[in-house]
Amino acid sequence: MSLAGGLRSGDVRALAKAISLVEDRDPEATRLVEELQPSTGNAHLVGVTGSPGTGKSTLVDGLVTVIRQAGRTVGVIAVDPSSPFTGGAVLGDRIRMSRHTLDQGVFIRSMGARGHLGGLAAATRETIHLLDAFGRQVVIVETVGVGQSELEISSICDTVVLVMMPESGDAVQSIKAGILEIADVFVVNKSDLGGAEKTRRMIQDAISLGQKQAWQPPVVLTSALKEEGIEGVFKAIERHRAFLIESGTLQIRRRQRLKQEVIALVAERAREDARRTLEGDTEVARRLRDDRNGKLNPYALAEEVMGGPSRGKGGGDGPSQ
Ligand code: GDP
Repeated sequence: MSLAGGLRSGDVRALAKAISLVEDRDPEATRLVEELQPSTGNAHLVGVTGSPGTGKSTLVDGLVTVIRQAGRTVGVIAVDPSSPFTGGAVLGDRIRMSRHTLDQGVFIRSMGARGHLGGLAAATRETIHLLDAFGRQVVIVETVGVGQSELEISSICDTVVLVMMPESGDAVQSIKAGILEIADVFVVNKSDLGGAEKTRRMIQDAISLGQKQAWQPPVVLTSALKEEGIEGVFKAIERHRAFLIESGTLQIRRRQRLKQEVIALVAERAREDARRTLEGDTEVARRLRDDRNGKLNPYALAEEVMGGPSRGKGGGDGPSQ
């Protein structure tokens, strides 16, 4: 059976192989994702983000259990830009897998930045499509909330869950950084440590000060470690999904996401074309190689490169030099 056929029929090995192709940025992966496109759009995409150590992994583990108890299938992509590891080989993954290992309804995969961050974002998006086509009803994307990635997750998921912990200064930072606006559900984890109620009030005050939105993000207290409050998180996620559908916001979000994805695909293609032009047997590449005094103008070169590889001799397909 073809890889696409295997994946659509629920063959987990086909899925794992497809994700590896995606991570390798193999051109075959792009064709595969394109072929599977008609089978996507059914999964609820849930982003879970927050600072390191707030308990995201522990919470996601608990969420997986709750989602399974509700009779849904789930896929988890744990994205860690600081980790060079890929392929589900990291320690945290093995620990997590061991709990759900016999459950066919759970698929967990870690992704690290093998090359550059742009590649990771594209690989994450494509892996979401694969899990969606594989038939997962809920796809959780767990990311470490460092700078841009927190903002990015809102452009790839339907529902964003922001995890904080009490009295950490974290909540204050998030409010200052304007991160509050991207969260659809707030979780104050580690409520067993105390101070959670105060943090909840602080977040709620910040929400009420902000622009009035049709959706009022709930603030849920949890202790992921003690497995307390996690049903409440899932209920909030479900309520948000119902809101998205009823209000028509889901369509709007997905249209925006499509636009972002097209922009990202074009950027990725352009970057690759530029690299090939500058490393291939082209006029501009020769000038770059022969430059002795470092006086070439990057802006003029960029203009020239954007004219396309076809402007240089040999179409820029020559070997890297
Ligand atoms: P992540 O970096 O956000 O994924 O955080 P982890 O899930 O790895 O958790 C970081 C640490 O906090 C681990 O030692 C967890 O055992 C601990 N932890 C997670 N949830 C809770 C909680 O609800 N209460 C307490 N006291 N510790 C927790």
